[in-house]
Amino acid sequence: MSSSPESFFSQPYQCRDCGSDVGFRSRRRTFTERFLLPMLLLQPVRCGECFRRDYRLISTRVRDRLAPVSRITPVKQPVPPKQNVA
Ligand SMILES: [Zn+2]
Repeated sequence: MSSSPESFFSQPYQCRDCGSDVGFRSRRRTFTERFLLPMLLLQPVRCGECFRRDYRLISTRVRDRLAPVSRITPVKQPVPPKQNVA
């Protein structure tokens, strides 16, 4: 047996709009998505090509969300308070 159990139980993602097989895990935004989707074994998935947002079974193979470089802001040094009090 060469196929792993993971690939046996999961299915590949395919976008309904553009047919892309690249899907990314999407953040659960609403109450429904946080509590109802897991009960239905669904997860929000965003297409990597056309960015269509859809719900897929949690067994669907999707990638973790991209971390855009622009969102990673460098840790700024705290601005020292003005010292012209005296
Ligand atoms: Zn798509």
